[in-house]
Amino acid sequence: MTGPTPRPEIMAIQAYAAGESKVQGVNRIIKLSSNEGAFGPPPGAQEAYRQVAAEMHRYPDGGSVALRRAIGARFGLDPERIVCGTGSDELIQHLCHIYGGPRTDIIMSMHGFVMYQISGTYAGSRVLKVPERDLTAHVDGLLAALTPETRLVFIANPNNPTGSLLGREEMERLRRGLPPEVLLVIDSAYAEYVTDPDYDPGTALVDAGDDTVMLRTFSKVFGMGGMRVGWAYGPPAVIDVINRVRGVFNINIAAQAAAVAALEEPGWVERSVAHNTEWRARLSAALEVVGVKVWPSHGNFVLADFGTAERAMGADACLRGRGIIVRGMAAYDLPHCLRITVGTAEECNLVAKACTAFMATQVGQRRD
Ligand SMILES: *Cc1c(COP(=O)(O)O)cnc(C)c1O
Repeated sequence: MTGPTPRPEIMAIQAYAAGESKVQGVNRIIKLSSNEGAFGPPPGAQEAYRQVAAEMHRYPDGGSVALRRAIGARFGLDPERIVCGTGSDELIQHLCHIYGGPRTDIIMSMHGFVMYQISGTYAGSRVLKVPERDLTAHVDGLLAALTPETRLVFIANPNNPTGSLLGREEMERLRRGLPPEVLLVIDSAYAEYVTDPDYDPGTALVDAGDDTVMLRTFSKVFGMGGMRVGWAYGPPAVIDVINRVRGVFNINIAAQAAAVAALEEPGWVERSVAHNTEWRARLSAALEVVGVKVWPSHGNFVLADFGTAERAMGADACLRGRGIIVRGMAAYDLPHCLRITVGTAEECNLVAKACTAFMATQVGQRRD
């Protein structure tokens, strides 16, 4: 066969499988597969979205100025050192293309966010995956994996899908161990949910040098995954390069307006975090009590460990039968686990009930 031929490494990429949203024959779906936030979008963001409808013939502000100012004010950051992306996914891709490419290496943790692997491979880099300890990124391992060709290290903190967290000292140690020409990308998509006092989302390390970038998103605690808004805070030189290559109008007018309004929604983050902390614990306890191991999580999801892939698949089927969609973890090399988003109180209770029923069918069967 003739025809255009993609670069061979591109064909090694497994397309990202997004969380599913439908189950055949089930009307009421409970979607807990994409960590979208338990409360939906903030009412103010929805109103702002409606308001700009009559303006949709206008091009958006290509610099997302009002949004960057609002982000800067909210988080105490210089708006000049912020760039917005069509989701943080866009920024991950740009960083890989800007600093990676053929004959370079990108390092990530074994069970780190799969977009690093997809975007890194797309850029032409070799992506090295470093084994973890107790499903937590292993700083010494990451440092030992360094090669002269390493240009980027990606770390999600807290990590998706494991929920694990690295404290300040570990993150500082990681940065100290990397040469200055290696860009450390700290993906803090779940930063708002963290209640551990020994946590910095990355701002301290960004401010301490010229070699670290922090990524954030409106897709999780702000409940705006469908709007596609993420942002990076980084050294001026890094922000400058991203601004040269990103989509000129990458954040549409509705997304800009809604994101600004989301930041202004009174008490939104506080309520979301309080709910998440309470129900993450309740859901975890309910699963543990029926024999499902739950890995400690700092995000708005839990990684439920069923011991074997077969049992995880059985649990998944049982949940689906009740209209509950969670995320299978085969793509993360964790086929014995399911990742379950912390939903509303009712949704958490339904998950617990379904897993209780499923585990009752497993009595007498070995767990490992
Ligand atoms: C959800 C998620 C993102 C992507 O967020 P978008 O802004 O929607 O592209 C990035 N990193 C991690 C670790 C995530 O879980």
